[in-house]
Amino acid sequence: MSSSSSGLSSPRSFQPDSGQYLEKFFLDQLQDIYYAEQKIAQSLPKMQEAATTDELRDAFEDHLYQTQRHCRRLEKVFNMLGQRAEGKKCEAIEGIVREAESIINETEEDTMTRDAALIMAAQKVEHYEIATYGGLVQMAITMGQYEVAELLDRTLMEEEDTDLLLTEIAECEINVMAEFEGINEEQGEMGEEGEEEEEGEEGAGIESENAEENETR
Ligand code: FE
Ligand code: FE
Repeated sequence: MSSSSSGLSSPRSFQPDSGQYLEKFFLDQLQDIYYAEQKIAQSLPKMQEAATTDELRDAFEDHLYQTQRHCRRLEKVFNMLGQRAEGKKCEAIEGIVREAESIINETEEDTMTRDAALIMAAQKVEHYEIATYGGLVQMAITMGQYEVAELLDRTLMEEEDTDLLLTEIAECEINVMAEFEGINEEQGEMGEEGEEEEEGEEGAGIESENAEENETR
């Protein structure tokens, strides 16, 4: 994308009403993702409030600001193409967001399992955005709309970064801590007395076994 702002002549005209199929479809998808970004911006505060860890709350908060910037950037793109910025209802994001919000009711408050589930839901949102922006960037290049392509590519990269960040948050500790949640509770209910002596024994035999193996050579 780096060469696009260097000396390429004025942007091509964009006239989806003239009957060009690709331009018409491109505009349709711009309206789709504009609707989606607005929907996501509405949903993120609920996700943020429901999250257990500060880390995930902060990530959702940052992503809300980023999503608002994505809306402004899309308005700029509409403007560059001489089109009115308007959203077109996107059933896919409606469904993905509904699923994300239903997770809040389906998981226990203050658990890591909830965060793990919220992260997975948020990544579904990111992947929808990545697919759409990825397609839009390529179409914009095909149509010779290089400045538009560059703006959309910036958003695409930010969505990819968000996706990676969510993966990191999940893998670093949330998923691991979530793994033991139900189990610990059940054990706690079964017997809370005198069960603290098992630490430190695990793995003690392994080193000596290896040592013996080496001796036999
Ligand atoms: Fe976005
Ligand atoms: Fe996003």
